[in-house]
Amino acid sequence: MAEQDLYKVLGVEKDASQDEIKKAYRKLSKKYHPDLNHEPGAEDKFKAVNDAYETLGDPQKRAQYDQFGSTGGQQGFGGGAGGFGGQDFGGFGGGGFEDIFSSFFGGSGGGRRPNPTAPQQGRDLQYEMTLKFEDAIFGKKTNITYNREEQCETCGGSGAKPGTSPVTCSKCHGSGYIQVQTNTPLGRMMSQQVCDVCHGTGKEIQDKCATCGGSGHTEQSHSIKVTVPAGVEEGQQMRLQNQGEAGANGGPYGDLFIIFRVEPSDEFERDGATIYFKLPIDFVQAALGDEVRVKTVHGDVKMKIPAGTQTGTTFRLRGKGAPKLRGNGTGDEQVTVSIQTPTKLNKGQKEALKTFAKASGKTVAGNGKSSLFDKLFNN
Ligand SMILES: [Zn+2]
Ligand SMILES: [Zn+2]
Repeated sequence: MAEQDLYKVLGVEKDASQDEIKKAYRKLSKKYHPDLNHEPGAEDKFKAVNDAYETLGDPQKRAQYDQFGSTGGQQGFGGGAGGFGGQDFGGFGGGGFEDIFSSFFGGSGGGRRPNPTAPQQGRDLQYEMTLKFEDAIFGKKTNITYNREEQCETCGGSGAKPGTSPVTCSKCHGSGYIQVQTNTPLGRMMSQQVCDVCHGTGKEIQDKCATCGGSGHTEQSHSIKVTVPAGVEEGQQMRLQNQGEAGANGGPYGDLFIIFRVEPSDEFERDGATIYFKLPIDFVQAALGDEVRVKTVHGDVKMKIPAGTQTGTTFRLRGKGAPKLRGNGTGDEQVTVSIQTPTKLNKGQKEALKTFAKASGKTVAGNGKSSLFDKLFNN
């Protein structure tokens, strides 16, 4: 389906203000309103004007349209997407123009029942994306594919066989509601019910579209590019407009919420922008001081261990953590050292340690054979 230039549909310039767009829409939707204009083609123009305003009337969607030439979904503009054409607005209680238009513009509607034939946005969808530990830190570009209800390409969402269009429901005359009369002991009572012929849509489809069976939607595999922002965390969500399911009565697509799951790392822990790393060092390094190589997600870096470092001491490597998702900068890596006691000593090492003990003015009983501890546990 060829997409029309939405600015031309509304007869405004590309740099028109939101106010000018709204005025143009009000003027044209009155001009082509099916209640007033019975010329052939007026109904299609009315739909096209509504579709154009759906996009251009919303600054966010308009920006997207300006950039990509569509609002991201498979919306066919002006393609008989069901909706307003040809219906009468009796269901509103005959309140005249201002009433009709206030309901288009989200006016309060003061206790009226919802209009079943109004365009409705499609359902939102959720997509769980599992990220490797590093990908959550640095972000990535990826493609995702999922199934969603899309507007049927064969019928453009109308549900009617190509070449035919849905007609105004013969029973409810398009309102979606019927008056039901019941005789009661108190007299005749009138009540409103959803029309059983059109199920509230106000439209009857005489020749159903073979592709979608009259629903106007088909389940399709849908692929999109996703840019995972650097610094996302487990459980965070990202909303992608119009990547959900097709709307009803020509309404816009719903949104897609991507929920991020982050795989744990064997080496690092992370809390927000801070990354934690455990570094084992031996007691000689701790006592004498040393320069060591430390792993970070940005690659290995050198770090000084000062002489006399105690086990459990934490050192901070500035800027070696994860990017901050909100705001600027990068967090730190916190390196916590743990001092390893050697488990197997050769003769030379033992002698050296005894000498060390002697130099410290201490005597150490254990020699590996006579200690009570060894007898009990090291047989
Ligand atoms: Zn169809
Ligand atoms: Zn009906």
